[in-house]
Amino acid sequence: MTKPFEGQVAVVTGGSSGIGLATVRLLLEQGAKVAFCARGEGRLADVAAVLERDFGADRILWQAFSVLDADAVNAFAAAVQARFGTCDLLVNNAGQGRVSTFETTSDDHWRAEYDLKLFSQINPTRAFLPMLKASNGAIVAVNSLLAYQPEKHMVCTASARAGVQSLLKSLSIEFAPHVRVNSVLIGLIGSGQWTRRFAERPDQSVSREVWYADLARNKGIPLGRLGDASEAAAAIAFLGSRAASYITGAQLEVSGGLSRHI
Ligand code: NDP
Repeated sequence: MTKPFEGQVAVVTGGSSGIGLATVRLLLEQGAKVAFCARGEGRLADVAAVLERDFGADRILWQAFSVLDADAVNAFAAAVQARFGTCDLLVNNAGQGRVSTFETTSDDHWRAEYDLKLFSQINPTRAFLPMLKASNGAIVAVNSLLAYQPEKHMVCTASARAGVQSLLKSLSIEFAPHVRVNSVLIGLIGSGQWTRRFAERPDQSVSREVWYADLARNKGIPLGRLGDASEAAAAIAFLGSRAASYITGAQLEVSGGLSRHI
C-alpha cells in the first residue's frame, strides 16, 4: 500500500522535541522527506542523527534558528527548495506557553507573547507560501485549546492564541483553493513543556507518574490522562494529508475531551 506522504516534502518548525519531533517521525514513517528546525543546535543534531539512522540522511534536512528570525526562515525555505524542490506541507508548531496572570504579566511579556504566537505562524507561512501554492499544499498550525477556553493563569498566551485562530481562518479563505489551512487545538500533551514544569514541581519527592495523574485529575480531563505527542502528531498528519482534501479553515481538538464548548 502506498504511504500517505510518499513523494511529498514536509516542513516542521520546532521539530527537536515533543509534538514537533513526533510529527517529524510520523511523516518520515509515512513516506515524506522532512525538513525541520529549532533554536538549540545540540538537541537538533542529536535528534537528526537518530532519524538519519532510522530513515536515511537523504530524506532529512535540518537547521538551527528561531522562527522569529524572518531572514533565517527565508534561508531555510531556500534550502528546502534547493534540496527537495518543493514543499507540500508546513507544520507551524514551534513555540511554548507563558504561565502568568494579568497581574504578573508585564508589557514586555505581552509583546513577546504576541510576537511569538503570531510571527511563528507569519514568518514560515510567508517563506513557504510560493512552494505551497505550486504544490497545492497544506498548512497545519499547532495551537492550544486556550484559544477558545482561556484560563486566568495563562492570560496572554490564551489571548494571543485566539488571535492566531482568527489569522488562520483568514488565511484559509485567502489561500483557497490552492492551500488548505487547518489547526490542532492541544489540551495537555506530555511533552517538553510539561517535563520542564514537572522538574520544577514544589515537592520533588512526587514521581512523574503520580504528578501527571494528579494533573489530569485536577484539570478534569475526561479521558483521565495527558496525551502523548504521537497522538497530536496523528491529528496533524491527518489534516496535512490528502485524506483531508476537503477540510480547510477547521480546527481539531486533541485534548482528551477537555473542551467544554460545543
Ligand atoms: P516542546 O518544548 O517539547 O517542543 C517545542 C519545540 O519548539 C522544540 O523543538 C523547541 O526547540 C522549538 N522552539 C521553541 N521556540 C522556538 C522558536 N522560536 N524557533 C524555533 N523553534 C522553537 O513543546 P511541545 O511539543 O509541547 O510544543 C509544541 C507546540 O504545542 C508549541 O507551540 C506549544 O505552545 C503547543 N502546545 C503544547 C501544549 C502541551 O500541552 N504540550 C498545550 C498547548 C499548546 P528549541 O527550544 O531548541 O528552539
